[in-house]
Amino acid sequence: MILNPKHRRQMRQVTVQKIDQVTPRVRRIVLGGEPLVGFNTPRPGAHIKLLFGVDPNDPVDPKKMRSQMRTYTPRHFNSETHELTVEFVLHGSGLASTWAAQAQVGETITVAGPGGGMDIPDAAVMVMLVDESAMPAAGILLESLPANCSPIVICEVEDVHEQRSLSSKIGVQPTWLFRKEQSAEPGLLLEKYLPNVLVGIEDLDDVFWWIACEANAMRRMRSHLLNQQGVSKDRLVSRGYWKLDTSNHPDHDYGES
Ligand SMILES: Cc1cc2nc3c(=O)[nH]c(=O)nc-3n(C[C@H](O)[C@H](O)[C@H](O)COP(=O)(O)OP(=O)(O)OC[C@H]3O[C@@H](n4cnc5c(N)ncnc54)[C@H](O)[C@@H]3O)c2cc1C
Repeated sequence: MILNPKHRRQMRQVTVQKIDQVTPRVRRIVLGGEPLVGFNTPRPGAHIKLLFGVDPNDPVDPKKMRSQMRTYTPRHFNSETHELTVEFVLHGSGLASTWAAQAQVGETITVAGPGGGMDIPDAAVMVMLVDESAMPAAGILLESLPANCSPIVICEVEDVHEQRSLSSKIGVQPTWLFRKEQSAEPGLLLEKYLPNVLVGIEDLDDVFWWIACEANAMRRMRSHLLNQQGVSKDRLVSRGYWKLDTSNHPDHDYGES
């Protein structure tokens, strides 16, 4: 395991152990190996960095490294077997998506992190508005909620074949929205559905909002909640997990600017 002096990240070269095609557009890949000994159990909302085509033992130009790096959710870490599970959306293009679509058991990849994460808010209701890329993180959040918090989960996916359980531990029935049948651009159906969620809420002060999806749609929903509905900034976390027509969108887009 190498500590990159510039980034202070622990770089671990891990091996693909198992691959499951969960839905036509989602592959679950289990990564393992000795370097994952000591990997910290991630907090809800945490991320890892995956580096493609980078050998952690080689000196790497930081600029090149950044272009080879993508952000993913450590969906599950088994601290006994040192296995890390990541769920990849196969969206058609891009370094990470292409790698995941073609990955084979036995090949290696470099992992850095985990980092980030959030404290679970004290709220009676947690509304999650997510697309496929944020379903792994939504699953972790659901598993972390206290018993007195009721989740409302809205998932926008490509089509009916992308419906899947968010958690094997928590029985939540999300509302599913299907882009393909309406030829909708990513995030639009979440945005259109937002008034339906608001109608069902008695007191906005009871609610914490977690929005994670395409960055433009996230901004529009964030703006609506803050500026039209008067939601307080400290009752909302919004994240652009990716951005339309943009490769390698930064991992820290909270829609604040
Ligand atoms: C904190 C955090 C956690 C994340 N966790 C996950 C996760 O667990 N699983 C996961 O699949 N993604 C996750 N993402 C999103 C992932 O980082 C991006 O989708 C990333 O762009 C994928 O890299 P790529 O190399 O495949 O595509 P890029 O090279 O970044 O982009 C290539 C093209 O694909 C488009 N694109 C990128 N992502 C998508 C998408 N999801 N759907 C449709 N088009 C897309 C871009 O607009 C661009 O045109 C997370 C992002 C963040 C910030």
